[in-house]
Amino acid sequence: MQPDLSVLAALTSALGPAGVLTQPSDMAAYATDQRGIAVSAPVAVLRPASTQETAAAVRLCAAAGLPIVPQGGNTGLAGGAVARPERPAALLNLGRMDRIRELDALDYTVTVEAGCILQRLREAADAADRQFPLSLAAEGSCTVGGILSTNAGGVMTLRYGNARDLVLGLEVVLADGQVWQGLRRLRKDNTGYDLKHLFLGAEGTLGIITAATLKLFPRPRRTDTLFAALPDPDAAIALSARLRNATADALTAFELVPRFAIDGAARYLGEQIDPLPAAPSPWYALVELTSGSADGALRRQAEAALAAALDEGLIQDAVFAESEAQRRALWRVREAPPEIGRKVGGALHHDVSVPVSRVPAFIAEATAAVTALVPGCRPYPFGHVADGNIHYNIARPETMSGEAFLARGPEVKRRVHDIALAHNGSISAEHGIGLFKRDELQRVKPALELELMRRMKAALDPAGIMNPGKVLPEA
Ligand SMILES: Cc1cc2nc3c(=O)[nH]c(=O)nc-3n(C[C@H](O)[C@H](O)[C@H](O)COP(=O)(O)OP(=O)(O)OC[C@H]3O[C@@H](n4cnc5c(N)ncnc54)[C@H](O)[C@@H]3O)c2cc1C
Repeated sequence: MQPDLSVLAALTSALGPAGVLTQPSDMAAYATDQRGIAVSAPVAVLRPASTQETAAAVRLCAAAGLPIVPQGGNTGLAGGAVARPERPAALLNLGRMDRIRELDALDYTVTVEAGCILQRLREAADAADRQFPLSLAAEGSCTVGGILSTNAGGVMTLRYGNARDLVLGLEVVLADGQVWQGLRRLRKDNTGYDLKHLFLGAEGTLGIITAATLKLFPRPRRTDTLFAALPDPDAAIALSARLRNATADALTAFELVPRFAIDGAARYLGEQIDPLPAAPSPWYALVELTSGSADGALRRQAEAALAAALDEGLIQDAVFAESEAQRRALWRVREAPPEIGRKVGGALHHDVSVPVSRVPAFIAEATAAVTALVPGCRPYPFGHVADGNIHYNIARPETMSGEAFLARGPEVKRRVHDIALAHNGSISAEHGIGLFKRDELQRVKPALELELMRRMKAALDPAGIMNPGKVLPEA
């Protein structure tokens, strides 16, 4: 059914002229994602300023049969916030709904609107001597609604869980325009089905999150950051387990970094970033520990654990950051691989997870498989391995064009995903399904689970107007 576009006039009177953009030049900023790979063709960009305006917009769009694609900061990596050219839809951007409604330091909670930028939320928590412990490289642009709708992970998942684990309550505009007021701040509430979990990680396919009540935590008094050289990924997993135990779970981040990050930064980014230049190593770990105590006890615990690891050959060398500048320099090494990937002229990306203990076997098997499929390709697995999440990325062979390498993408991806699944893993650890992994989900998800998902979609969005064609194919 073609939508009735005369609804745009009614939307303009409900949301005001600032709330409805229809000129291509005005919509351009919302139509392309941060990496420029998923380009939208929306019939309009809606920018409601309140929950009531969002609900009014949904009611009008539902009556006109106009699909809605919710959008936060448009930093998602699965093509979820894109209005597909073949399916006329309105983008509903939450950017004007960015108030922090209430921060309660005694309750350790914050109630915040969906369009609030993650970094602003983290700064507000900090200013109240609290911590909101979800951090990722896109935090200067991504929004609360986006991180909840993708169930984002990031670098602190190991200690605090992913976005889903940080939510106490939600306010959601449903597909028929009703508002579900679920902004509870209870730590304990066993009154039937926990409905908020339906909308968390749903990528905008079941409703629009307009606000959330989130958990806060004590603000750490001390952060110790270190960089260790390792012989192999087995050593990384063993070291992370050991540091968790030695510091009574003060381990906040543990990121695997391949040598490719250092050599690639020199070659493709023109940056010399090796923190341990005396002893080049095939693998590294970027480790962060935080403590509520400002004294050096945590550092001493970590040093003792590292000394034992050095004696046993688990690590080859290690260095602690002694200043904020050095800390940033260590994180730079972890942040280099995605940038290098954009410069190599052809790279394939995977966001998979396996049980933590299976990470080394997964990396070994995937590397053997992809180098057999495309000889000379250059895998550079990196990321949050202590929670089992590997960004298994692969650069084109030096002698193959990017185009020819990317043409092998479907075959390579299928192989990598199958190996993750053989280790009881997942094809999407933290980036979601969106458009890009929708068909692959159909291939790998058990039939009964897909059927339950379709029933949930039909129950909550019977007309199919909420982000159609994302996560699940359209009915
Ligand atoms: C440099 C970089 C680093 C990244 N690092 C990480 C990382 O470490 N961990 C990680 O998990 N992700 C990471 N990401 C991915 C991305 O930042 C996250 O997916 C983020 O959660 C998306 O937030 P957003 O506001 O940009 O959402 P968008 O991209 O705008 O939307 C994402 C999805 O959520 C839906 N949506 C958005 N807002 C709402 C709402 N209010 N209600 C209902 N649905 C909504 C959209 O329809 C879409 O399906 C990274 C991305 C970049 C560019």
